[in-house]
Amino acid sequence: MDIMITLFYALFSFCVVYPPSEFVAAGFTITQIFDNFLGSESTNFIKYHMKRITITSLIHASLPLGYVCTLWCCGERGEWMPASALGAAIIPMIMLFQIILWWEHDKSKHPVVRALKPYVNQATGSDWRILAADFNIEFHRVDKVLLPLNSVSKVIATQNWLIKVTPYNVNIVKQLDCSLVATAADTHNLSPSGEDEVQYVNVEVIPSRDDVKRFSFRMSNTALRELQPRLMRPMRVPESISLIPPLIERFVEVFKTNIAKNPMYYYDNDEVEQCIGCMQNQADVKIVNRCEPAQPGPADGQRPQPPCSPCNCRVLWCASCMARWWATRGPDAPAQWLSSRGSCPVCRATFCLLDVSFACSRSIAPPAVQH
Ligand SMILES: [Zn+2]
Ligand SMILES: [Zn+2]
Ligand SMILES: [Zn+2]
Repeated sequence: MDIMITLFYALFSFCVVYPPSEFVAAGFTITQIFDNFLGSESTNFIKYHMKRITITSLIHASLPLGYVCTLWCCGERGEWMPASALGAAIIPMIMLFQIILWWEHDKSKHPVVRALKPYVNQATGSDWRILAADFNIEFHRVDKVLLPLNSVSKVIATQNWLIKVTPYNVNIVKQLDCSLVATAADTHNLSPSGEDEVQYVNVEVIPSRDDVKRFSFRMSNTALRELQPRLMRPMRVPESISLIPPLIERFVEVFKTNIAKNPMYYYDNDEVEQCIGCMQNQADVKIVNRCEPAQPGPADGQRPQPPCSPCNCRVLWCASCMARWWATRGPDAPAQWLSSRGSCPVCRATFCLLDVSFACSRSIAPPAVQH
């Protein structure tokens, strides 16, 4: 009986400290339960996290006492119960004392305020609340990037700040005052064939000021790519660490290598048009129906595919956009992308890899290959 209660309570405690997704979905997390008291994170970031850290610390510190109470409620009346109850009660008492220290004297000892303090004199020369108000306004803007690390931590990049939120702390650093360095990366295969690779990168945030604490976080390469455009300074990646490009980018390269084997397509128009997909690259691919009609279409394995059909569209797309279009409409398994067939983004004509050519205007084609 006691063992069952202990196991149940251990599981319960773990779910309180690291809520699994089921708990998050059911709204059974500290932040969700105390939602009304905490207020809005997006409009008042500093106050929200000051309250959240206080409540979280107190609840976590009360878990041992909760265990003794649970045992008592379940009829446990051992001689050691009073002593354990006293011992377990001391932990939240100490925490409460710590919290009082945080909140008195202008809250200046609170972890959130301590994280903000190094920037107070520099920015305003006075009260941390003035900086907090500015900070909140910046955090409220929609252009921030918020990346969850797990169910209780996240990294946020606003225009000027980089923030890491953990259960008992908040790290705040000015983007211009710090450098980001990738310290390690590890790759995991999600599928046995190794097509679905996920890479995790450990990133160390090193502030240039001594009074700001350095911190680190670990996130997937995909999440890191979302973060990077928001960073004022690019992350440094040592040569010993190679970040794998996303699957689709690797496919774009393979696609380009394959279509480069097809004959070049020359057109008469002097004007080189921009790709209508990305509006950045020059349009450089043309679908020319050249695979033999009798030839059986590249086997998809499952569904029979329609035969290739001619496309009369002009040169409108760049090879990268065409490859991405091809991949997003291809089969679910990336291994079958190359052997599948695509459809022209404009006229929907079906084409296979043999039917895609790099296109080049005759006027700018190298003389040796002209005609
Ligand atoms: Zn393009
Ligand atoms: Zn077409
Ligand atoms: Zn074809």
